[in-house]
Amino acid sequence: MICPICKCGHVRPGFASLTLERATTTLLFRQVPAMVCDNCGEEFIEESAAAQAFNSAEAAVGAEVSMESRHYGQ
Ligand SMILES: [Zn+2]
Repeated sequence: MICPICKCGHVRPGFASLTLERATTTLLFRQVPAMVCDNCGEEFIEESAAAQAFNSAEAAVGAEVSMESRHYGQ
């Protein structure tokens, strides 16, 4: 597939980093499956991979909250 950004590179399967920001938390996901241009380096993260990362981010934030509430409840 030809890169839609630079129009001369080839987009190949690879990995990218994805950053998700919440109000007080920044989560960095590494090795997210993505298509990467071998010319300009543009990363195209698949929607399903992004959604999966977002779901685990929600879980992480939820776990933190429940840990805190346990802590304050003791
Ligand atoms: Zn490109």
